[in-house]
Amino acid sequence: MAIGACPIYGTHRMISQGFANADNYQNKARIFSGGWYKCACGERVVASGYPHFGGAIGSYVTEGGIYKLYASYSNVTSFWVYPNLVYYSSSSTIPGYQFLSQ
Ligand SMILES: [Zn+2]
Repeated sequence: MAIGACPIYGTHRMISQGFANADNYQNKARIFSGGWYKCACGERVVASGYPHFGGAIGSYVTEGGIYKLYASYSNVTSFWVYPNLVYYSSSSTIPGYQFLSQ
């Protein structure tokens, strides 16, 4: 769910950052695994799909739904997220965001 326009590009340019886990910040349960993306403005998205390759986004959470990045090793970054702010999209785009490999 888009919160606001990118202050740098207008549309966030979300660059793939590697694999990621999105875990419930309250009960620590895994919600989904996939990858994460970051824009130069600092906006982050964690998604279960491969939108940077044209695939569906699947389950996703944007910056507003991220509670904390809590672990990062072996190219896998793990986030605590707010489960009520996890959304789903069968599209490869969401309004205000562009997903890119680099
Ligand atoms: Zn941005």
